[in-house]
Parts: sequence; C-alpha cells; structure tokens
Amino acid sequence: MHNAAYDALGLNWVYVPLPVRDTPSLLKFTEAVRGLPFVGFNVTMPYKQTMLELCDDVALFAQMAGAVNTVHVVEGRLIGYNTDGRGLIEALKEEVGYDASGARVALIGAGGAAGAALVAFVLARAAHVSVLNRDVGRAETLIDRLEAHRRGTELRALPLGPEARDAISSADLVVNATPVGLVRDDPSPIPVEWLHDGQVVCDMIYQQSTTALLDGAARVGAKCLGGLSMLVAQGALAIDIWSDSAQTAAPRAVMREAAEEAFREMQGEGITQ
Ligand code: NDP
Repeated sequence: MHNAAYDALGLNWVYVPLPVRDTPSLLKFTEAVRGLPFVGFNVTMPYKQTMLELCDDVALFAQMAGAVNTVHVVEGRLIGYNTDGRGLIEALKEEVGYDASGARVALIGAGGAAGAALVAFVLARAAHVSVLNRDVGRAETLIDRLEAHRRGTELRALPLGPEARDAISSADLVVNATPVGLVRDDPSPIPVEWLHDGQVVCDMIYQQSTTALLDGAARVGAKCLGGLSMLVAQGALAIDIWSDSAQTAAPRAVMREAAEEAFREMQGEGITQ
C-alpha cells in the first residue's frame, strides 16, 4: 500500500520489509539508518515501545502513548511519532461515522496499540474509557501515564474477566487491541453475548477479513469495523509526516485497494501475516 501511494504521489521512494530478529538487531539498524538515505520507517510489534527510547526526539502523542510506530529520519536524527491512535480515530469517522467526542469506550488490551488508542480517545475528549486487560497492572500503567493529560475523560482499569461485563455492555464503542483474532479460529476476546445493537465494535485485527468478535457483533446488530481501515489510515498519516506535506494527503483509496489486493494474494498463498 505504501509503494502504491508513492507511485500515485510521484515520489521516488520504495518501502521494503526489514525483518528484525531481536532488540540488539533493532539497535544496529537504528544506528546504520542515520547514515543511509532513508526518509523514514515504521516499527511494528513488538518494538514500538523500545523504538521510543532509540529516537532523538519524540512527538508528544507518541510520548503519551509510550510507543513509536513511525520514525522520520531528518539529517541523521530520528524523530518518533505514533500514527496508530489518529489512524483509529480517522477510520472510525470515515468508515462508520463515529465521533469519539463524548464517547463511552471499552478498550480491550493494554499494549502499544491500546496505549495509542487511549491517547487518541483522551485527546478526542471521550467521556469514559475502561481499559480491560489480562494483566490489569499494564492497564493501570497506561492510565497513570495519562493522568496529567486526561482533561475530563474518566479512565478505569479492569481485569479482562467477568468483571468486564458491565464495561462492555455499557460502552457505545468496543475496541479489540489484542492479537486475539489474528489466527482464523481464534475465539472472541470477550463473550459476544455482552454486546448489543446500537454499539460500534472495532477489531484492530487486519490480517483476517472478519473475526469471532466482529461476527458476534454483526449478529446482534452492532456496527462493525475491521482493522484494515485503521491500517491504511496510520500508513497514510506516516506518509504525510515523511512528505512534510500539508497539501498532498496520502491517497487512502489507492492504499486501501493495494492493501486488499496484497491480502487476497497472501490468503491465496496461505500466508496469514
Ligand atoms: P502488544 O504485544 O503491545 O500488546 C498485546 C496486548 O494484547 C496486551 O495487552 C496483551 O495482554 C493482550 N493479549 C495478548 N494475547 C492475549 C490473549 N490471548 N488474551 C487476552 N489478551 C491478550 O501488541 P500491540 O498492542 O502492538 O498490537 C495488538 C494488536 O493490534 C495486534 O494484533 C496488532 O496487529 C494490532 N494492530 C493493528 C493496527 C491497525 O492498524 N489495524 C495497528 C497496531 C496494532 P497482557 O498485557 O495481559 O499480556
């Protein structure tokens, strides 16, 4: 999807996957990249938190999220950003007409993606966000980091168990930010009986066209959003940063088409990620 966008924008760039084996390899890469003609790069699971420490400068949003997914290389300096949270807000607005301002949100997960989503909901002035995680301590850490910024949004941490039922049922937006659903036969991260119509249910999983959570949500009449729109939006926002361009926004439709085509090919070849 990146290369399709560069073509459409007439940019002489190429986007390549660089597998990183471990943290020392990431360290070597980030040192080498300073002297190479890279415009920037993205970082994905599980290095988004480590990348924050490796940047020379970090935008406030990424600091608040505690994770960097986009790095701009500017004269050998690494400037860190996080486009995941804004990508989620953009996707919700564009795809299902959902405005997070005043929302009651149940956010499942407390890793890098959940951290970015939580910052975005706070900045969008959601009324209430419950962060539900297996390890409730991680959810509390996310919330503590935002204490100084939360501007009226009520935040609470809950274990991802029966205690989460009320938070899910009373939410108008439910977001899965765990990898549960990545594998085709994965269960839903929460019992789908807790969902009801009138809710918006978003699964960040983009590697599958649907998930048990989204299937359950559709059955009760909730509005559903898969992770592909967020993937496209976070990628487009990264291109907007690299191209320093306020005028020529990255072409979302071209990117989405290219991403869908790539997934069709991968599924044809039996590759899930
Ligand atoms: P992290 O590894 O940082 O966090 C994973 C989170 O999921 C943790 O809160 C973890 O809980 C929880 N978790 C993991 N396994 C389970 C399980 N079996 N049951 C319940 N909870 C579980 O990952 P990220 O936050 O970076 O990514 C999360 C997902 O979001 C991934 O699938 C990723 O692909 C997707 N994503 C999608 C994007 C998009 O654009 N659509 C953008 C970014 C991410 P605990 O703390 O208890 O271990």
